Amino acid sequence: MKITDITALTFRHKTNTVRDSDGHGHPGPESDTTSALLTITTEDGTTGHVICRPGEVREDLLDRFIRPNLLGQDALCTENLWYKVYKWQRLSGGQLLDRTLTAMDLALWDLKGKAAGMPVWKLLGGARPKILAYGSTMCGDDLENGLATPEDYARFADWMVNTRGYKAVKLHGWMPPMPGAPDPKKDYKACAAVREAVGPDVPLMLDPHHFYTRTDTLWLARKLAELDFRWMEEPMEEASISSYKWLRDNTDLNILGPETMTGKHWIRGEYVKADAIDLVRAGVWDVGGITPAMKTANMAECFHMATEMHGTGAGNLSVALAIHNTSFYERGLLHPFIDYDKPKEYQNRIDDEMDADGYVHGRDDPGLGQDLNMDYILANQT
Ligand code: MG
Repeated sequence: MKITDITALTFRHKTNTVRDSDGHGHPGPESDTTSALLTITTEDGTTGHVICRPGEVREDLLDRFIRPNLLGQDALCTENLWYKVYKWQRLSGGQLLDRTLTAMDLALWDLKGKAAGMPVWKLLGGARPKILAYGSTMCGDDLENGLATPEDYARFADWMVNTRGYKAVKLHGWMPPMPGAPDPKKDYKACAAVREAVGPDVPLMLDPHHFYTRTDTLWLARKLAELDFRWMEEPMEEASISSYKWLRDNTDLNILGPETMTGKHWIRGEYVKADAIDLVRAGVWDVGGITPAMKTANMAECFHMATEMHGTGAGNLSVALAIHNTSFYERGLLHPFIDYDKPKEYQNRIDDEMDADGYVHGRDDPGLGQDLNMDYILANQT
């Protein structure tokens, strides 16, 4: 199946998320934003799609790195194509980022699923037809009745578990520039309030400020162990593997990582070898696609370690349903003021509909399982 065409189109849609001065998303007034649709087409007209950020599939990136390596090649040989493009990163002068690799890889897997007439989660292994989601909150804020106080987090967690049906909850704590942040004691108060609200049996996790010192991190880890938290992720700069080894040597709390550290499946192998983590983190948008995410998961399984997928979307859901060694799918980011279950204008359905028991189900449609409103996308090109 020869690849004949690779296009990216940018389109306009509405968002209710605004970014603070450190880049974290919060609820805000509706405004316009843009996303991109990457499409890879083969000679028989089969297409693979993915929605991504416009900067990840800029024309100059497609012209310099993607089209020369993919056009005329067999679209089904995803391993070959991933390596051809990956090797260009070294001499790209920092231009070819992992997220461009991810967009290409996801579009290729979507195409492969459609060519096979199979959903990607089954093509990759099909470990389970459904997976429990954890509700993943937005970062703390200063909005009245939002996520401004420990009581706000407790009230929202109670809604997530007892009304919406989530079986697990992850908090993102307060990050600068929010008042009083960063503060491990404030993070702990929110965690304690949530534990009190949902009871002892609901798995809880924390994703705090990412630049704590060793001593702040260790204090927080010990307190979260007392609250029987399932894991904490990325409390310190992840390039310092020895800091994570030190943390793990000094706490009973499970540490999950690395999440945003570059180095794909290779760095995750180094973390495992260093005994620096308890659970391995992989997200398709962090490691360079489904292809390296599956390698990460298979590596972790060799050491009886779970791989927890980072972030939402059809790619992460496909891997989570495909592998044996994972426990949850991350669903979010959630906030009292945001209706997560409402499709965006460019979707007919969201990627990860969740039932009342807290399960997200794999779809039987061929490909990644995205249900895109192509009429909307084509009519709103910029
Ligand atoms: Mg995280």
